[in-house]
Amino acid sequence: MRKPFIAGNWKMNTDSHSGPALVKALAAGLANIDRGKVDVAVIPPFVYLAQVVNAARASGISVGSQDIYFEQKGAFTGEISSNMIKDVGCNYCLCGHSERRHVIGEGDELINKKVHAAINGGLLPILCVGELLEERQAGKTEEVVERHIRKGMAGLNAEKAEAVTLAYEPVWAIGTGKTATPQQAQEVHAMIRGLIAELYDKSFADDMRIQYGGSVKPDNAAELMQKEDIDGLLVGGASLKADDFLAIIKASIPA
Ligand code: PEP
Repeated sequence: MRKPFIAGNWKMNTDSHSGPALVKALAAGLANIDRGKVDVAVIPPFVYLAQVVNAARASGISVGSQDIYFEQKGAFTGEISSNMIKDVGCNYCLCGHSERRHVIGEGDELINKKVHAAINGGLLPILCVGELLEERQAGKTEEVVERHIRKGMAGLNAEKAEAVTLAYEPVWAIGTGKTATPQQAQEVHAMIRGLIAELYDKSFADDMRIQYGGSVKPDNAAELMQKEDIDGLLVGGASLKADDFLAIIKASIPA
């Protein structure tokens, strides 16, 4: 059985006080929870990673970055490598979050290089995929998601691809308060698992964790997580409130 994986993307929020305080509140709230039953990560802004790693120490909460660059060092002003993220004590990084795709303008080829760089630098990438509203309305959801996965995972053999978590995040549901219905999400998750079986094999696909993201809240988390192919949640806004994020984590643990 796939262990639920709940990650909180803080986006461009928190500061040097509220970030460590948030992770400490989460650690306290998770103290009595069987950590064999759920994996939890927080994904703060770059500048607070080291402080949050420090505050999360011994809590079992992992820390990840919201992005990386694909080169490891050199004349790339303003960029941060996977080795640097690993060096400050993180083990995850997001690749291809929709805000990077659609606000910053990242394309599939660049995202694929970042996925490779993450794995080569010892990080576990969370590769985000998902369609825009107009793409869904035009019946192109599967085509878009398939392209994001085929291109994002291009060149990864099974050994490397094992490091990847996929996050299906319909762009129209991110930060909008509109959640995909559990059935809508399940349909895409099942399609993704089928594609992974085609790219690797069925047992590989059966082990792969696929998160859902898009306006996840304490009151919709359990219903989403009950779906067969939803193995975790990538949470934005609701991960900034310790009580809400804790409620989401608790709702995700199988009874
Ligand atoms: C996200 O940032 O990946 C996200 C899903 O945000 P929200 O939960 O706020 O929709």
